[in-house]
Amino acid sequence: MKKLVVITGASSGIGKELAKTFSKEGHPVLLLARRKHLMEELNLENCICKSVDVTKKEEVEKAILEAEEKYGKTDLLINCAGIMLLGKPDTQDYEEWASMVDTNVKGILTGTNIVLPNMIKENNGTIINISSIAGRKTFNNHSVYCGTKFAVHAITESMRKEVAGSNVRIIVIAPGVVETPLLSHTTDEKIKEDYNQWKKTIESGLDVSKIADCVKFAYYMPQDVCVREIVIAKTKQED
Ligand code: NDP
Repeated sequence: MKKLVVITGASSGIGKELAKTFSKEGHPVLLLARRKHLMEELNLENCICKSVDVTKKEEVEKAILEAEEKYGKTDLLINCAGIMLLGKPDTQDYEEWASMVDTNVKGILTGTNIVLPNMIKENNGTIINISSIAGRKTFNNHSVYCGTKFAVHAITESMRKEVAGSNVRIIVIAPGVVETPLLSHTTDEKIKEDYNQWKKTIESGLDVSKIADCVKFAYYMPQDVCVREIVIAKTKQED
């Protein structure tokens, strides 16, 4: 059997596509998100689904230890869980931007903190963080979301350097608009309307399979080759 792949945010959108992709490739998969039934519905082989909140280290740790007991150590961790609650920090509800910071920033660190020590010890392993093009440039009503994604880029790049003495790879993938329910997290109807209006300029977002292709490309490179960063968007996405 191939090595264990752990995917956060596997109940929807990009993470769900990654779950199907790596299972099809023959990897045992640990799927993590809060809505367990959506991951179980995928009915994948050699798969463990756990309802966890990625901001809660004990929950993530318990799930990873259980999967590693069954399938061996984690070879690939994909930190995909994230939320996008567009708004402005001065008018937006405190809980909205606070949960965005917690999920998008703390959320990539919990699993990393659990699997990275063993990866370094074994001189092997890969962590892929799903950031966003909003981690490279700014957009209207995206200040906190951009802040969280700029943080994902900064953390990834710093960690990549820190582990460069080992053969562990830390990679960031930054998509432009992808067709998923991500915008539905935003509660401000006017902002959603404006976003959808802007989105018409690119006709539609990327298909989730294109992000899975990028993740596969980076992961299946030889271990001594690190595709540090991929930025991918629809050709017609100007920003
Ligand atoms: P979805 O809304 O489809 O998926 C988000 C996933 O994150 C869900 O599986 C959700 O699961 C999970 N999640 C959210 N909060 C938590 C939490 N606290 N604990 C555990 N899981 C959580 O959106 P996408 O697939 O589009 O988003 C995936 C990633 O891709 C995000 O990081 C997003 O920022 C990034 N991205 C998306 C783009 C797009 O245009 N769609 C563009 C660029 C980047 P559940 O609710 O069941 O917990």
